[in-house]
Amino acid sequence: MSDTDTANPDPLAGGALETTACPGCGAVLAVVPGLASAHPGASPSCAGLFAVTVRGLREEAAQDVQTASLLQLATDAYDAQHLLDDEPAAAAVRLCLWLERDVDPLRAGDLAGRVADAAPRPQIRPGRWTTTVADLAADLDVVDLPTLIRSWADAVWIDWAPAHPALRTAGASALAG
Ligand SMILES: [Zn+2]
Repeated sequence: MSDTDTANPDPLAGGALETTACPGCGAVLAVVPGLASAHPGASPSCAGLFAVTVRGLREEAAQDVQTASLLQLATDAYDAQHLLDDEPAAAAVRLCLWLERDVDPLRAGDLAGRVADAAPRPQIRPGRWTTTVADLAADLDVVDLPTLIRSWADAVWIDWAPAHPALRTAGASALAG
């Protein structure tokens, strides 16, 4: 969730041999020496790869609402895969709103307080993820980024299935205000 640019954060570059599994999404990526994590709950390489993947969206988001909406969806998909153990699942509640309730992700700012108040701390969390930012990056040559982000967000939401009842209740409560 940081805009901080990091030097050469592309963990797929450079031919490094040492790898690490991201504690959040499980993506196994090359260790980039000296790279600090820009996201709690994520390995430095994973957070760096996400930053690189959405950099173009960040640059465009101020001028284009569709891009801003897509960036919000990507950020929530990423955040929902990288929650700390006792952190409320606000990002997963937001995915519920965008994907099931058809709320515009641009309303994230308006709804932030109510989502934060309603967000549960689900005891059961996804044990594995269908799609990670590493899969996204690997497919970028053949599939366009908006399509990849939408299918990634859908997959993350489906991976959260054991907590859907609690997340839907929280989403309804946030909308009811
Ligand atoms: Zn990760």
